[in-house]
Amino acid sequence: METATERQDAKRAKTEHQAAEGAEPMAVDDAVQQKDAAPPEQQQQTGPSMRFLMTQYYKKLFPVQQMFKWLCYGNDSSHAAADGSFSSRRELCFTLEGDIFVRYQSYKSWTDLATDLARKVPSKIDIGPVYTHDPRQRAKYAKDFKPVQRELVIDIDMTDYDELRTCGSGGHICSRCWPFIAVAIQVLDTALREDFGFQHILWVYSGRRGVHCWVADEGARLLADDVRASVVGYLSVIRGVEGGMAKLGMGMVKHPALERAERLLRSAWRQHLLPEQCLLDEPQHYNALLQYIPDEELRSSLAAKWAKGGQGIVPGGNRRASAAAAAAGDSVSLSVRRWDELEKAVKEQASRLPSGKAAKALEKSLDDIIFAYSYPRLDVEVTKKMNHLLKAPFCVHPKTGKVCVPIDPEAAWDFDPDDVPTVQQLVQEINEQQQDAGASPQQQQQAAGAEGWRGTSLEPYIAAFASSFLSPLAASSKAALNERAQAAAAEQRTQRADVSW
Ligand SMILES: [Zn+2]
Repeated sequence: METATERQDAKRAKTEHQAAEGAEPMAVDDAVQQKDAAPPEQQQQTGPSMRFLMTQYYKKLFPVQQMFKWLCYGNDSSHAAADGSFSSRRELCFTLEGDIFVRYQSYKSWTDLATDLARKVPSKIDIGPVYTHDPRQRAKYAKDFKPVQRELVIDIDMTDYDELRTCGSGGHICSRCWPFIAVAIQVLDTALREDFGFQHILWVYSGRRGVHCWVADEGARLLADDVRASVVGYLSVIRGVEGGMAKLGMGMVKHPALERAERLLRSAWRQHLLPEQCLLDEPQHYNALLQYIPDEELRSSLAAKWAKGGQGIVPGGNRRASAAAAAAGDSVSLSVRRWDELEKAVKEQASRLPSGKAAKALEKSLDDIIFAYSYPRLDVEVTKKMNHLLKAPFCVHPKTGKVCVPIDPEAAWDFDPDDVPTVQQLVQEINEQQQDAGASPQQQQQAAGAEGWRGTSLEPYIAAFASSFLSPLAASSKAALNERAQAAAAEQRTQRADVSW
């Protein structure tokens, strides 16, 4: 049963959460709630309720042991330098039915967490920081209760690309707008590794319209809030959008990190963004892009040419025309050809300008377009504060039913948000396994137990999480604990030597 204190916490937390996250309502689907409330006959018609599916998910599919192991960083081991209080100082926040936030939950072991998940069946789990003390006892410590570490996190939301994407907006995401996310992952992952030296980086699909990045290196976890703000400042180029145009924090001379980003962006631009988004096919899209060219004559001449179909261009250019061109074996899409034309026209015009400065400014507008359209757009507030909550990997998105699965940054281009397993699909898969007459008793037992994810579509994601993230992280956590133990032993030796004098 939920205690009175828990209810109070939930109420207070809801207010705090809303204050922190702005007015955006929590993602609990009304339809799902109605379904939960539906009488049994109706439930049979619409399939199992979300509550039932989530109960099955936490019992058999959610990789609770692996998640807990990650969040302990070796402190759950019997290592001499392990900090036994570590896991109970980490905040988890549950969203329960009816949009209720229960903040400041903490657990001593993965089995305690598994039991509570099965009991509370949260529609969402958020991960908060590790505090000085157990967050359940925060009242006792008053001002001494504060966050001491937390992964460095980055949030990218597809709605920040709404004025650019041509395939949809809001909660929409598809394989055609995914390239915006894929290039963002590529640019940020490279910067985090090469410029900051971070190694333990986890990318996760948010289950609906974005991705999260978790940097778990100890150096990242210990960053103070002001340093987090500097990191996100360093990684950001787009300083807002005004009149449909992105304001760019980028001068004529680029920082080497932006030069490196530009190489990645340019290749994504021609190979994916232009052809897949058809950014220059239709007037409302090419007119928006042409705004970045600071030469009115050039803008209008290109727009007029493209409106007529233009030279060498599929007449009446539109997406269907592009598709027809592609079907006819024309490998260069309409938008790519128009971009080449635009680039050529800008360069020719620049060479005609008497002032070198004006020529450079005109040429820079090409870079500006590429950065405005494809440089990662970050929700900076999420990164700035150690105590900002962020949805846990392997949660189920309440609106889509999709699992928040890890993404291999090396294969970000191949990731398709439509292929991500849903809770409905996974529960069906374990049911089929259990009923499969051909399955061995061991397989049937497995499907009924806590590691029911084995053999389902979720298994490859959990396996990748374990091998690419958890396992190297465990090795580095162990090395850090060894170092700590050696330092403590050396300290003791010094003390003993002092005494013997
Ligand atoms: Zn799309």
